[in-house]
Amino acid sequence: SRSDITYFGAGPALLPTDVLEEAAGALLNYNATGLGVAEHSHRSALAAGIINQAKADLASCLDIPDDYEILFMQGGGTGQFSTSVYNFAGAWVARKYKEIFGDVQGDPTDHPELLNQLKQAVDDELKIDYLVTGGWSQKASVEGERLLGSKHINIAADARKTNGGKFGIIPDESTWKLSENAALVYFCDNETVDGVEFPTFPKSLEPGPDGKGPIVVADMSSNILTRKIPVRNFSAIFFGAQKNLGMTGITVVVIKKSFLPPTISQPSPTLMRYLGLPVPPIIFQYETAAKNNSLYNTLSIFDVYVAGQVLKKLLRIYPNKVEGQQAVTDKKARLIYDAIEAFPEIYKIIPNKAVRSRMNICFRVTKGDDIDAAEKAFLEEATAQGLTGLKGHRSLGGIRASNYNSVPLEGAEKLATFIRGFATS
Ligand code: PMP
Repeated sequence: SRSDITYFGAGPALLPTDVLEEAAGALLNYNATGLGVAEHSHRSALAAGIINQAKADLASCLDIPDDYEILFMQGGGTGQFSTSVYNFAGAWVARKYKEIFGDVQGDPTDHPELLNQLKQAVDDELKIDYLVTGGWSQKASVEGERLLGSKHINIAADARKTNGGKFGIIPDESTWKLSENAALVYFCDNETVDGVEFPTFPKSLEPGPDGKGPIVVADMSSNILTRKIPVRNFSAIFFGAQKNLGMTGITVVVIKKSFLPPTISQPSPTLMRYLGLPVPPIIFQYETAAKNNSLYNTLSIFDVYVAGQVLKKLLRIYPNKVEGQQAVTDKKARLIYDAIEAFPEIYKIIPNKAVRSRMNICFRVTKGDDIDAAEKAFLEEATAQGLTGLKGHRSLGGIRASNYNSVPLEGAEKLATFIRGFATS
């Protein structure tokens, strides 16, 4: 049964049982309305209430300032690989347009010289910087290149270059080749497949004393709500809900309002086409989502409801909000890493110690001569003890223990004990 198992899968992840039980009731009959929460109109006051409460609770958990907007979108983390490119390239063009056209009003085609100047600027200067530290940031950079073409893509760092072709490190910041005035600098805070996590916010991307700095966008799909984050250092943060927040089906974007109307509007499709840049699909425009409180089209209110219940629980358990969760997360990760490190002959942690992830603990079982047989035995014995979902990603092999928020402390203790026991058996 459910209570016999601790699931360490990489996502979708465990959800708290009490949240699921409550949600099961809400699916049938929400707040005694006779209709389930998934049946109510997304245009109802009830749906708006669920959305607004989830936004408020997320803002409270993470200390998100008022000048940031919270959007619920669809298309997953993968959708954001495209969305971030469309919107921040558009914002870059909008800023450049203002710089070049100044107060000149009317149709841009009435001013061919200015338009030409803008086209030249786009051709020469529009860059998106990627820090490639694992499979997910790499995928994002490939999508950026697919949408904009390689001349607009700058791989500011690639961990594989100085690590024998493999991920597992974060290149020293002094080696990063950041563009001047990039439309965005992209990084993935926690690489789910490779088990690499940024230990802290990168120094070279920090804003200066005037609050100004590079436009930073981060994928936090697999470590959101597990530690305190300096929200102000980011222009946007995105994450799929399905690991630490809720169910698959909604993607959350936290974005600085100054990238939305009235400060910045996406350039017209005609202008973007003239500049040779892609026009974002309407549902992938942040301003569409923002103007409609995430309800431009039918959103899964059930998914928002579940996320909301998870947030309520976090706020209930931890008076100090995400910092409380962080303490438990760090403790669970330490328990598991300590067990692995106690047997260097038997286990080998894959990523470099300084950047290893608290969320996705990736290691090989090197007991005996046959690694495959040792890992097979490890997985079989673990499963027999109710420790499941531990098989590593196919690209890396080995074992991956995902330590998301719904893995209880006792689950991590059980795994640590198993790791020690397997080593000495
Ligand atoms: N980014 C990261 C860090 C991920 O772990 C994942 C999925 N595991 C994705 C992006 C892709 O998310 P989705 O499957 O929601 O598109």
